[in-house]
Amino acid sequence: MNDDQSRSLYGRALDAMPGGVNSSVRAVRPYPFFIERGDGGHVVDADGNRYIDYVMGYGPLLLGHDLPDPVTAAVQQAAAEGPMYGAPTEVEVELAEFLARHVPSVEMTRFVNSGTEATVSAVRLARGYTGRDKVVIMQGGYHGAQESTLVEGAGSDTHPSSPGIPDSFAEHTLTVPFNDEEAVWEVFEEHGDEVAAVMTEPVLGNYGIVHPVDGYLETLREVTEEHGALLVFDEVITGFRVGGLQCAQGKFGVTPDVTTFGKIVGGGFPVGAIGGKTEIIEHFTPSGEVFQSGTFSGHPVTMAAGLETLRYAAEHDVYDHVNSLAAELREGLTDICADQAPAYTVVGTDSMFKTVFTRDAPDDLGNQCGSGCRQRESCPRYDICPKTGGDIKRADTERWERLHWPAMRERGVFLTANQFESQFVCDAHTEADIEETLEAYKEVL
Ligand SMILES: *Cc1c(COP(=O)(O)O)cnc(C)c1O
Repeated sequence: MNDDQSRSLYGRALDAMPGGVNSSVRAVRPYPFFIERGDGGHVVDADGNRYIDYVMGYGPLLLGHDLPDPVTAAVQQAAAEGPMYGAPTEVEVELAEFLARHVPSVEMTRFVNSGTEATVSAVRLARGYTGRDKVVIMQGGYHGAQESTLVEGAGSDTHPSSPGIPDSFAEHTLTVPFNDEEAVWEVFEEHGDEVAAVMTEPVLGNYGIVHPVDGYLETLREVTEEHGALLVFDEVITGFRVGGLQCAQGKFGVTPDVTTFGKIVGGGFPVGAIGGKTEIIEHFTPSGEVFQSGTFSGHPVTMAAGLETLRYAAEHDVYDHVNSLAAELREGLTDICADQAPAYTVVGTDSMFKTVFTRDAPDDLGNQCGSGCRQRESCPRYDICPKTGGDIKRADTERWERLHWPAMRERGVFLTANQFESQFVCDAHTEADIEETLEAYKEVL
């Protein structure tokens, strides 16, 4: 595989940008390949190598790289009319109305420019609304590059996970292991009247893909309600992907107070959003007192791309297509792992998938979850499959990154850069892509 252009571009990039990239996950070793263009479910790199793309921009590209005509037309029109104004436009009202129609918890939405901005604003809103300072998050959960959640440690013994964040920020953040009902009750027993919110992804999508155990999300709903704290679902990945237009909260039947969105809702352009009940969301300025503002918020090009992408998904069989292809992929992977790497766990739901290089195999694989781990108690993997972010960390992450990723790349399959990040099937992927991908896994696993 020829790499000359990418290698030389990375040489220039290292002089011009820290680590040669603008988002750390892109700096795969020894150096990343540079993308020249997308083509449906594929990307082509600067040296002309072609890959089946399961990174999909790390989540935003539900439809793949070739946007359908109505989406392209709306984006081009919005850009041609003038990029942005600093005054309201109809398209942002339409997108907010669309969210209110489809997402159970959402009556009102504030649009921002990234998932990080959404979770920052959601935490500020929860604190302002409740008059409390503490937030509870999941160990190994990811909510973007924000001070309150870049935190390590257990319970109230937490510290910042990055230099540049004062210890005093982490003091207000409590962590619990995902899927551990007892731990969250305990934290609330001790700190209940200081907790503004529990924030979690309904399915962990930045830590290997961890499905909730039966009843866990309901427990979070119950404990927050009992203690007067808000439940915030970070649906930046799962929004408009898991459960389709109703999002993961609709699929699991648990309605949070506040939801953060990003990724798909901007149709491939920079976006974030905070949605919820009117009574809560109206605490944002100018209707309320919790400061929230942004020059680019509700950007017309982004709003047009998001609205037309979601309309397209509503009017076509996008979710059927991506979900059934991904199910086929997960089922194929489950069979391949059973034959070649019985310790590995295939995870994912809807159009998300990943192989987690877990280290223990059950004695008998009969009746295991067949299309991605569902935390089924009757599954022979149940006691050893990943339930928390920590379980993913204990997998063979080095093997995944150093041997598995490059070998898949060598065979023309572009996976996310490490064991932790989810991978995505898009509407442009085909049956042939899935078959080719499974052949590659068969050679590599
Ligand atoms: C990607 C992501 C974020 C951060 O979004 P950015 O747009 O990268 O700032 C926050 N939360 C979750 C769950 C995410 O997957």
